[in-house]
Amino acid sequence: MNCREAVEHLYEYLDRELTPEVESKVREHLKACPPCGEHFDTEQAFLKFVEARCRSRCAPPELKRRILRELFGE
Ligand SMILES: [Zn+2]
Repeated sequence: MNCREAVEHLYEYLDRELTPEVESKVREHLKACPPCGEHFDTEQAFLKFVEARCRSRCAPPELKRRILRELFGE
């Protein structure tokens, strides 16, 4: 897995929507690639921040993802 593929799976990874096989590939990449590891950590921290203030009721996951994508310019 390369960086582009890892980032493509970022949200599914954070939402634990990946198959165990893909998830372990992403995890391997994150261990081997500090910049991606950091990127994922940042996204995860932000996701938790949003969730803490926005108790799942107020925003469906798809909307949250869209907000995150806009914020991170993806
Ligand atoms: Zn990478």
